[in-house]
Amino acid sequence: MGNRKRWTAAERESVYQKTGGRCAYCGKAIERRQMQIDHVIPMEFYETYKVVDGRDLNDMDNLLPACRSCNNYKDTLTLDKFRAALEHMPLVLERDSTTYRNAVRFGLVTPTPHKVTFYFETLNARTH
Ligand SMILES: [Zn+2]
Repeated sequence: MGNRKRWTAAERESVYQKTGGRCAYCGKAIERRQMQIDHVIPMEFYETYKVVDGRDLNDMDNLLPACRSCNNYKDTLTLDKFRAALEHMPLVLERDSTTYRNAVRFGLVTPTPHKVTFYFETLNARTH
């Protein structure tokens, strides 16, 4: 996408420090060089936000550090859709995976469906 920018070292460091070096979503510790910069509001909405709100989705307030797995999985999803997709996983596995159903039946895996709170949200809760 043409609006994606190259980050300076200072910008990368600012994003990295937002969560103290952890993935904003799953909370896993990440190395600086492994960190991926996620657009919380996906870049596919770039033009809309620019035109309607005069907001640049490359601004710091729309950026969070993410591990590769979370960044790949979130992809173009909004925060709400990413959360819903995660919360839906036990049902998807139950529907699609024989291995999962067998593991549950034999007590090797215990489904614990619950509301997903992202790591960065626990940080916000503490500062407010
Ligand atoms: Zn993660």
